[in-house]
Amino acid sequence: MSDCIDLHTHSTESDGTDSPTGVVEAAIDAGVTVLALTDHDTTTGWAEAERVVRSRPDAPTLVRGMEMSCTGRGEDGDPVTVHLLAYLFDADDRALKEERRRLRAERDTRLRSMIGKMAAAGYAVDADEILAEAGGSAGRPHLARALVKLGVVASVGDAFEDLLKTGGRFYVEKADTPLDDAVAMIAAAGGVSVIAHARARRRGRLLHLDHILDLARGGLLGGLEVDHPDHDPADAELLRGIARKHGLIVTGSSDYHGTNKTTPIAARTTDPDQYAALVDRATGIDVVLPGSSR
Ligand code: AMP
Ligand code: FE
Ligand code: FE
Ligand code: ZN
Repeated sequence: MSDCIDLHTHSTESDGTDSPTGVVEAAIDAGVTVLALTDHDTTTGWAEAERVVRSRPDAPTLVRGMEMSCTGRGEDGDPVTVHLLAYLFDADDRALKEERRRLRAERDTRLRSMIGKMAAAGYAVDADEILAEAGGSAGRPHLARALVKLGVVASVGDAFEDLLKTGGRFYVEKADTPLDDAVAMIAAAGGVSVIAHARARRRGRLLHLDHILDLARGGLLGGLEVDHPDHDPADAELLRGIARKHGLIVTGSSDYHGTNKTTPIAARTTDPDQYAALVDRATGIDVVLPGSSR
């Protein structure tokens, strides 16, 4: 079987629409051989995903991960949101665990503020209902679905156009983790950090390349997500060049969100040698092998 390695996916534990089991099943159907589950700011999907993978010999190898909400230096000098993938870290590490808890509390507070703005505009949604549905890590896609349900917009993507995007009508900021702190915390927990979709222009302002270079020189950053559906080819090559020059791991992934996005699982993939380098670098926890007992 040839390798098919997808290192970035989301479940109902954050803003995906498939349960962790569903994500594993989608991966099996697509012929994925290595799957990372990387919900936003949470590890709550790990146990279920691990159970399914251990019980099914045809499942992919599971890389337990997370996508951490961070803030970095934007190209214009102002702070910008950065997503940092974290792999194979010790989930019991105190500092990182506390930071995850803080980030999720930020999400709840921010979601309620955004719902307040929506209510003032005449779009009433039940905050408690949405938070309950969100599986502990509530995000804008949950609000997008509510707006679709109300008939305000036709699709989740449309909801982001003017209403939910950064700086949009209902947008409210949250206090994310300073990028350097997150990289250090993940390293201290034995994990490998990879900056996600650093050139996803559609989402707004970009992270300054100098910030990436500073982190690369610092030695704690593991890699860059280079092949991503939101990267145009020139930007992917730019990142690939930086990674090569600074010895960073290069990853590729789908950023699968079930039906909250149109991208299928394994739409982009990671080279086996880069995956091997990632596993090599991690000291936190092991990958989970399909059909294995504990
Ligand atoms: P949040 O984590 O609440 O700030 O919301 C960010 C999430 O919204 C991202 O992780 C994506 O899943 C999703 N998202 C961002 N931009 C778009 C878009 N244009 N269309 C659909 N989903 C988006
Ligand atoms: Fe997301
Ligand atoms: Fe992301
Ligand atoms: Zn993601």
